[in-house]
Amino acid sequence: MHELIADRASAIDASGIRRIFALAGTLDNPINLSIGQPDFPVPAEVRAAASDAIEQGHNGYAPTQGHPVLVERICAWLKADLGWSAPPVGTADHDGALTMVTSGTSGALLLAYMALLNPGDECILSDPYFVSYPHLATMCGAKAVLADTYPDFKLTAARVEPLITDKTKFVLLNTPSNPAGVTLTQQECNELRELCVSRGVLLISDEIYDEFVFSDGLTESCAQDPSIKRLATPARIAGASDDVLLIRGFGKTYGCTGWRLGYASGPRAVIDEMSKLQQYTFVCAPAPLQIGAAACFDADMRSTVADYETRRNMVIDKLGSVTNIATPSGAFYAFIEVPERLGMSGTQFAEKLVESNVLVIPGSAFSARDTHFRISFATDPKKLAAGLDIIADAMK
Ligand code: PMP
Repeated sequence: MHELIADRASAIDASGIRRIFALAGTLDNPINLSIGQPDFPVPAEVRAAASDAIEQGHNGYAPTQGHPVLVERICAWLKADLGWSAPPVGTADHDGALTMVTSGTSGALLLAYMALLNPGDECILSDPYFVSYPHLATMCGAKAVLADTYPDFKLTAARVEPLITDKTKFVLLNTPSNPAGVTLTQQECNELRELCVSRGVLLISDEIYDEFVFSDGLTESCAQDPSIKRLATPARIAGASDDVLLIRGFGKTYGCTGWRLGYASGPRAVIDEMSKLQQYTFVCAPAPLQIGAAACFDADMRSTVADYETRRNMVIDKLGSVTNIATPSGAFYAFIEVPERLGMSGTQFAEKLVESNVLVIPGSAFSARDTHFRISFATDPKKLAAGLDIIADAMK
C-alpha cells in the first residue's frame, strides 16, 4: 500500500509528539505538563446556547462564511477591538476587508496556506513554531523557511528581513506564541508589518491566544474603549485590515477546543479565495456550535486568565533561578532551556522526567534545535507545583 501514499503525507514526520503521548499512556497518573488544552469548563451560558441550538433544530449546514448569529458578533468585535470594518464574505456594496468563520484556527490556517502557496513557494515561520505550521507548507508542496528566534522567541523584522526572497508569500506571526507564550511590543508589530508591506508579502497573525494575555502583555488600547488594555498586534495599526490576515479562535479561550471554531479576517482577495476553498473542503463550521460560540462574546474570562497568570508566576518563581526562561506574557506555555551544564538535549531531559512521572514536550517537536522543552500550565495548580519541584530538582 505504501506506494500509493502521496508525498505530502509521507513527507510528514509526527514522531516527536507521538512519542510523548505514547509514553503518557504507559504511566500511572502522570503529572502531565504536555497538554495544550485548557483545564476549565466551557462557560455555562455558552454551553446552554449550543444545546438550545441543537434542541431547536439548528442542525443543518450554515452558510460557508459563517452562521449570521456568530459572524456578525465577530465583525462587531473586530470593529470594537481593532477598529476594523470587515463584514462577512458576500456582503454587497463593500470593497474592503472581509471576515469568515472557520473550522477551528487550524481550518483557517490550512485554507490560508492553500490559498497562498504554490509548489516551490516559501513562507517564513518563527523557530520555535506551532507544530502544524511547517507541515502545512509541506502539504502544499511549499517550503517553510525558519527564522531562528532564540533566546527571546520574538519574530522581529530584523530576523525576518534576510529570509525574504522572490518566492516568499507570507510571514506567519503567532502572538502570544505556542510554545513560548511570548508577545511582541506594538513597535515590533509595526516594524514587521512595514517590512511585509514594503516587500509585498502577506503578514498572517495567528492570535488564537489573544484573550489569554497576562497583565504584562496587555499594553495597547482597545479601539473603542481606550481604558481597556489589549494585546499588541499588527492588526491594530490603521489600515492593517487591507494587508494583515488575522486568524483567531474560540477553543483555547473558552475551553471548547473540540468544537472546532475559529475565524479569519483581512484582505478581500485572500478571504474570498479561502471561502471558496472552504466551500469544497470543510463546507462550514459546525452550525449549532457557532450559535453557542456567539455567547462567548458575553462571557467574562478575566478570573480564569488571572488564575493562569498566577500559574505563570509559579513557573517563573520556581524555575527562573535555575535556568533560562523567556517570560510568557500569554497562552499557557513556557519554553524552558535545559541548563547547558547538564549536557542533555531537550529529548533526553524529557525522557529523564518521565522516570519521575512528569510529562513535558521536547523542544525538537517545535524547533530545528533540541535544547529546550515545553511545559503547559493548563493543569491543576497542585500538580503543577509538584511537577515544577521535580523539574527544578532534575536541573540541580
Ligand atoms: N495556532 C496555535 C498557535 C495553536 O497553539 C493551536 C492549537 N494548539 C492552533 C493554532 C490550532 O487551534 P484550533 O484547535 O483552533 O484548530
